[in-house]
Amino acid sequence: MGSHCFDTKHRKRSCSRRLLPCLFIVAMVCGFALNGDAWEHHPLITEPVLETFAESGLLRPTAVVTLQDFLVAVEGPLAGFLLDEEDWARAHLPWYAPLPEDLVFVATGTREDIVARFFRAIRINPNTKTPLYYAALSGQAPAGASLLANEQVSLFPDSTALDSFDFVAVLPGGALNALDIIATATNEPDYGMDTGLFEDNNTPFGAAYGFGNQPFGNPGLDYGSQAPFHIGFYHESPLVFFFARFLERTYPEYRIRLFKRLSEFAFQHDQDYWGWRFMGWGLHYLADLSMPYHTTVLPGYSTLRMLWINFLDILGFSRPVDNAVQLVSNRHLAIERYQRIVMERALRTKGDHIIFERLSAEYETPTYRDELPREVLARASNSMARRLDRAIEKYMPADFVDNPGIELADVEAVEDIVDMVEDTHGAEAVAELDALLADALELFAIYGRSFIIGILDAHNDLQLTHRAP
Ligand SMILES: [Zn+2]
Repeated sequence: MGSHCFDTKHRKRSCSRRLLPCLFIVAMVCGFALNGDAWEHHPLITEPVLETFAESGLLRPTAVVTLQDFLVAVEGPLAGFLLDEEDWARAHLPWYAPLPEDLVFVATGTREDIVARFFRAIRINPNTKTPLYYAALSGQAPAGASLLANEQVSLFPDSTALDSFDFVAVLPGGALNALDIIATATNEPDYGMDTGLFEDNNTPFGAAYGFGNQPFGNPGLDYGSQAPFHIGFYHESPLVFFFARFLERTYPEYRIRLFKRLSEFAFQHDQDYWGWRFMGWGLHYLADLSMPYHTTVLPGYSTLRMLWINFLDILGFSRPVDNAVQLVSNRHLAIERYQRIVMERALRTKGDHIIFERLSAEYETPTYRDELPREVLARASNSMARRLDRAIEKYMPADFVDNPGIELADVEAVEDIVDMVEDTHGAEAVAELDALLADALELFAIYGRSFIIGILDAHNDLQLTHRAP
């Protein structure tokens, strides 16, 4: 079932069945049109988790290899491997949109188009950039390093989040340590690889990829189109799913599994550089699922309240629904901007911070399995949504998070959000918000480690050990 909308003010409502109740759900998930990313600065989140592994392994230099060279080296076995993965997805993801026959990766021996063939087979944006580089916090790149421009790294070079990093170029044959490769790669799924993949995104590849129409969010916004790959609504009330089955059409599990297996595949073929890089890609989606606004349709709204404003909407009073969508979108953005600022500040001042303490703490690490992101991680982050939403409402500037007349993405003052919280509610409010973010990111620390160990366990020769709790 295809359902889509334009923006929160001009909702295009379409649903083939159960028309009226469905309208509201369509409307409310449009909030994601405005905000398709989750945590900002994945490398900063990932590094402290990686540092809990014994340093010897992750600091070992690894020769960097272009994607083209990697694919040429593994082309034969890759074809069979990808077929197996397709079988797995069809068998284990009931809403999975099968890979169209003509996109199947065939080993042709043609070097020139091998990257394009691979991108088609894993159905990412064919313009995705895969330069050889690592990300340093801006201003902290080594003197004399050659830096890549944003447009050499991301399909969205004007994103302000990119300004926090220097992208240090590395030549083929140069070396990087695994920690830098993984951490850098964790930001890459937000650089455009998951954009434009749906039929109604008006891209030639979206028309060919077989994902159908974008299940929710604004199909006309480049960046918003990645939302169904970066969020997972698995733990909403059955009533919500009853009225809106399309909410199940999300794909983070597809990406997590594929990139985990590609990482393992690369290590099996002694291609460590791509082993680490695919590991980083997979970790991105796990981190996204630790973000409560990415596992919850409308944080802070009970099912009853959702049905009530839905009812008003049916009667013609659409404002409560419009307001809910805009508020959720603004709160989502507010907490992510807050998170970026506190983490970046702590790093630049080298100060202690609860978020980093919790990311680098020792935890009992459960054994990884493919159901874990949905059953355990997303459930835990979903159950935090209400608590986080209340704290946002309580401490963040009312104009940012309680005024549906504002589109927070257009408000420059959001960059001062941490200071504004402290000025109005004191250091205790900052501490409380920080602790909530630490709770959510702790989920990534635990299950991200599970994911990493799951890959490493299959490859004892990597000789990586992690510090036992
Ligand atoms: Zn993301």
